[in-house]
Amino acid sequence: MAMTIILYNTLTKKKEPFVPIDDTNVRMYVCGPTVYDRAHLGNARPVLVFDVLYRLLCHIYGKDHVKYVRNFTDVDDKINATALARKKAGASGSLEELVAERTDETISWYHADMDALGALRPDCEPRATEYIAQMVAMNCSLINDGYAYEVDGHVLFRVRNYSEYGALSGRSVDDMLAGARVEVAPYKEDSLDFVLWKPSSDELPGWNSPWGRGRPGWHIECSAMAYELLGDNFDIHGGGNDLQFPHHENEIAQSKCAGHDFANVWLHNEMLQIDGKKMSKSLGNFFTVRDLLDQGVAGEVIRFVMLSTHYRKPMNWTEKKQVEAEKTLNRWLDQTVGLIPTDSTSFIPNKGLIDSLSEDINTHKALSYINSSFQDNSQALLDHARWFGFLGDGTREDHVARQLANDEGYGGPEHLASLVAQLDALRRLASKSKDFSEVDTFKAQLIQAGLEVRMLKDKSELIVGENFNPKKL
Ligand code: AMP
Ligand code: ZN
Repeated sequence: MAMTIILYNTLTKKKEPFVPIDDTNVRMYVCGPTVYDRAHLGNARPVLVFDVLYRLLCHIYGKDHVKYVRNFTDVDDKINATALARKKAGASGSLEELVAERTDETISWYHADMDALGALRPDCEPRATEYIAQMVAMNCSLINDGYAYEVDGHVLFRVRNYSEYGALSGRSVDDMLAGARVEVAPYKEDSLDFVLWKPSSDELPGWNSPWGRGRPGWHIECSAMAYELLGDNFDIHGGGNDLQFPHHENEIAQSKCAGHDFANVWLHNEMLQIDGKKMSKSLGNFFTVRDLLDQGVAGEVIRFVMLSTHYRKPMNWTEKKQVEAEKTLNRWLDQTVGLIPTDSTSFIPNKGLIDSLSEDINTHKALSYINSSFQDNSQALLDHARWFGFLGDGTREDHVARQLANDEGYGGPEHLASLVAQLDALRRLASKSKDFSEVDTFKAQLIQAGLEVRMLKDKSELIVGENFNPKKL
């Protein structure tokens, strides 16, 4: 019998048992980043939360029966602005080429950064610009049915024609008018109406449409991609709670009025904050995931800290949390060093871990479970940690480097570099004297400590092996 996952559905404002529409095809859509710059730490929160849910769904329904889609918004004013700035600074190529260069580069950064956090890639990562035809088609259907109208190359959604507008975020249309920053524009019938399509200047990216050359509004992108890739009705739609209004409210309005059932369950993560305020590019109170990685904070330490707080609570990044996470992960590594992980396709996590996650993705409880359950079973610790995205192959060396740095008398990467320098000096002397005995003794000592020694033609390399023990040096 399949386990029951309980999820807090923002739409019904209740915790509910999750019942997939089709348990052989469980479908989830998560709003992805606008690719104009490096992801900040807050942007990593939905990535990690939905990574955990994805792992849980794959465990329960089988990897081949789950489809996870997360888009890239690669058409946007901020992207255009970065390309324009590059052009002004003398970069060669058309503005469209510079836009493409910027989005490609940002996507590759995003992948590298999120991979470093142990997040699995979704099954499908559509770029908005690859689905323009579907967006145009959805707009045409909305215009035909009276839910949208065209004015001067703009297409606008007629909010007052959708009576359920506001149901997700719990606001009435009149409250929104009074409180929200809605853009007043002469071409709008009503100031609440939002853009489905807007004209584009000749030099900026644009596509031909029944309303002239232009580009889609942000909200229609997700509706069109979700419909194309997941169908009329799908299980889960996720994102940060800053997107509830207006983005998700608008997605629902468009999709429903285009005749689709759209998502059954809505999940929203709370914000990563700095001094009580949402971390965001626009407030300027941010640091990027790459900043932390470059400072030597291991990706899985970031993962641990982020998952230590339940996704529906606001959280801060603190050095204290970082140090605690490092301590725990170092302990996990010490206990499992040298063990070979069980093949991930045959490993089945304990019920205790799955039960914790099934309680509305209780990642805090899951981490405590792993931490306290396997003190006498190192193999189980390694396998459960890996199932949860920790102690991965790529992170092992990070750990060892940190351990080296922590161990008194060992300087981490610098210490390794000095060993390489010693070895090379001995080799240079030996090549003159033709007596290689000292080189051999030193090399044997390095191998004994668990380092792989590569003697290239004119330099040496030391690779940290799984059984590396700096104390043996
Ligand atoms: P954006 O590129 O701003 O649309 O954000 C991409 C994703 O990151 C969305 O799901 C946002 O809800 C989420 N997000 C943005 N800022 C934060 C934050 N400070 N904390 C948590 N999630 C965030
Ligand atoms: Zn979206």
